[in-house]
Amino acid sequence: MMKSNQCQSCGMPIGKGTLEGTEKNGTKSIKYCEHCYQNGEWTQNLNFDEMYAYNLKRFQESDINKVQKYFLNKMYTKKFMKKLERWK
Ligand SMILES: [Zn+2]
Repeated sequence: MMKSNQCQSCGMPIGKGTLEGTEKNGTKSIKYCEHCYQNGEWTQNLNFDEMYAYNLKRFQESDINKVQKYFLNKMYTKKFMKKLERWK
């Protein structure tokens, strides 16, 4: 089975420029990235639509690599985001 290191809140691949979030006890989250999840809590308490808009803006403004940019342009839709665990 394929194991993807993808943030289950924003959908960004974790590991290349985007670090893991942290749990309350300081361990690394296996599901969420640092931008979404810190100390066991969401960094952004937004609803789905707000989060989608926020993510798009954040990704575009961030220093993302070519792969991430490709992913963003091709795949980053609301339909895609709805499949992530946080939004199910
Ligand atoms: Zn995230």
